[in-house]
Amino acid sequence: MYKKHLQIAVDGPVGSGKTSLCDEVAKRLNILHLDTGAMYRAVGLAAIRNGISPDDEEQLSRLCLEGLALVDAIYKDNRQITLLNNVDVSDDIRTEEAGLAASSVSRFAVVRKYLVKLQQNIADKQSLIMDGRDIGTVVLPHAPLKIFLTANPRVRAQRRHKQLIEKGANPDFELVLQDLQKRDLQDSTRKIDPLKKADDAIALDTSDLSFEQSVQAIINEVKRVYGE
Ligand code: C5P
Repeated sequence: MYKKHLQIAVDGPVGSGKTSLCDEVAKRLNILHLDTGAMYRAVGLAAIRNGISPDDEEQLSRLCLEGLALVDAIYKDNRQITLLNNVDVSDDIRTEEAGLAASSVSRFAVVRKYLVKLQQNIADKQSLIMDGRDIGTVVLPHAPLKIFLTANPRVRAQRRHKQLIEKGANPDFELVLQDLQKRDLQDSTRKIDPLKKADDAIALDTSDLSFEQSVQAIINEVKRVYGE
């Protein structure tokens, strides 16, 4: 296993497979995986719970700056636990509602500044693979390895649809696709830190790759950059 301090930045849109791929790569390399989307979801959840509109920048500033939405990520048996005000919200943040709220709150500089700092502090302390939308461009601009994951929208919506069914929901496919396209648009057109490929990131299209093939493609890049 690697003795070097690994910093692997992974970005991509909803359903590109970031979270599950990074989980698996982290496990095989025995490093941590920081899912930064979970942190934005926690702020989105805080807004919902406090009756604040995820579009209300002033109230969101208050949440973040007055310590009313204290977010943190800790690890238990190498698995990320996302905390909101010291309470484990790892399951509560996985709803569509929290996802859309996350996408809204993440447009605001005050929220981004707050979470980016936390993410950089976590990355300073340990080897990790970090996934999000702005990891290669903003959070870890000097990461030796950056990967930009893509897959076509229908494939991504199919993956998301399947995940929701596995969780016991009965979602309409076209609505899942619409929701995904709405989030894509919001994430890639926002003014601050939009989702975009860093110039030095490697693009990996997973549309026609199996999960194992995608994992291997990332591990091959890790070996290329950090050695065997
Ligand atoms: O990755 P996930 O879908 O859980 O992220 C939820 C939302 O958080 C995304 O739609 C995106 O708007 C936002 N996000 C972000 N920057 C990140 C990670 C997530 O803006 N680094």
